[in-house]
Amino acid sequence: MTEVVTKDELGEAFAMFYGMAAAIGDMVEPAPEMDDAERVQRAKDTFLHGLDGTFALQLDVCVHCGACAEACQFYIGTEDPAYVPVRKLDLMKRVYQRELSPLRWLHRLTTPEITADDLRAQQTLVYDACTMCGRCNLVCPSGINISEMVHLNREALAAAGLMPDELRFMDDGQAADGTIFGADADLFRFRIEDLEQRLGFAIPVDKESADVLLVTSGLDIHLFRDATGGAIETLTHMGIDYTLLSDAYEGANFGLLSGDVKVQKELTRKLTEAAIRIGAKVVIVPECGHSFPALRWGAAESVGKPVPFDVMTVSEYFGRAVMDGRLTLEPQKHEKPIALHDPCKVGRWGGVFDEPRAILKACGYDLHETDSSRTYNFCCGGGAGNFLIERADPLKRAGYRVKMNEIEKTGAESLVVSCGSCRMNFEVGKVKAGDTMPVESLAAVIAAHLPKTPKEAAE
Ligand code: SF4
Ligand code: SF4
Repeated sequence: MTEVVTKDELGEAFAMFYGMAAAIGDMVEPAPEMDDAERVQRAKDTFLHGLDGTFALQLDVCVHCGACAEACQFYIGTEDPAYVPVRKLDLMKRVYQRELSPLRWLHRLTTPEITADDLRAQQTLVYDACTMCGRCNLVCPSGINISEMVHLNREALAAAGLMPDELRFMDDGQAADGTIFGADADLFRFRIEDLEQRLGFAIPVDKESADVLLVTSGLDIHLFRDATGGAIETLTHMGIDYTLLSDAYEGANFGLLSGDVKVQKELTRKLTEAAIRIGAKVVIVPECGHSFPALRWGAAESVGKPVPFDVMTVSEYFGRAVMDGRLTLEPQKHEKPIALHDPCKVGRWGGVFDEPRAILKACGYDLHETDSSRTYNFCCGGGAGNFLIERADPLKRAGYRVKMNEIEKTGAESLVVSCGSCRMNFEVGKVKAGDTMPVESLAAVIAAHLPKTPKEAAE
């Protein structure tokens, strides 16, 4: 196995990337002017457009049991009643009650109209204090899909011109040219060439047809090169017919995270059309939690027809290959136990649990499960774009503490994750808390356990 990024290089890249992310607030252009009446109208229109019968019913059936509060890392970490999950739906409920409910004639007398100040206050609740992780949905006895309705709140705030600055910066960037953090096609090619030199083989880019399309992200191009490098090394080792594309390499989708549905669909359409163009049977999205739902559940809708490919994450694709014998890893003697973090969108939403565990077992690790692993795993605290929102820092730290306490309790001496946002939040959380748990990419772990070539074995 070749080291595609050294620890020192990773440390330097992390510092640079963290500085870049922290400077977004200074770089962002002022939000376009909009008067308050228009903000309110746009938000209401968006709520009313998205409020179907299912959501309307769910807004009426809360029994105020409080179970969702005990499921949310932000409530647990702060004990602030403002962060009780169902309360994040209060504003939307007022719109529903006044405009759609059977008793709307009564609610118009008793329930206040929403205001632009209400919308501004809602920002912190549905961006900073919710990662749309879906853990609260699982425990709700009334079956209320809080995370999905939080997303509709994000759409309403986006329409009202009230995204957090950081997400607006990212969304504007992707609307302009599809890239994030300036990771344009030139930087993508530079990174591929750098990986080729380090790995010692040619990496297939821009093939006209391939069975597998491998997607990366600006986060990996700048920072987590070991994740993309690990996936490339493993696909090459397996002899898979794959390619990366210089016109469709970005898996991140800040339209989805910000609530900008137009940008979300456009980014998904671009990747989908590229995969269809090359005849891909599988698209492997990078270790990036939200890339997975953006493409897995958005691809067909983006082109208005069923798509001829599966969408898998790195952990899912290689985990299945291990489980069905297409990929053999070389177990090593690991003295120290390891923990695994199940990213919310890949795990709870996508059901990818057995695959990463099969990989770690094949590598010879002693996996110590955290109390809340698999379906009920706690979010790292930094998902759904809030790892970039500066003012959300205390909430991110609270969420981090909840999960890191569980990880430390297992006695594990390192942590494996397969999501760049989780990895970023754990890395920042560690620095701020003075913790020392090493955090590794699952893709890099896989590459480190590929059987040695005869040349490597002889060395
Ligand atoms: S979706 Fe997750 S972060 Fe959001 S309210 Fe529910 S448990 Fe909390
Ligand atoms: S768990 Fe469900 S029913 Fe209970 S308070 Fe939360 S939203 Fe309401």
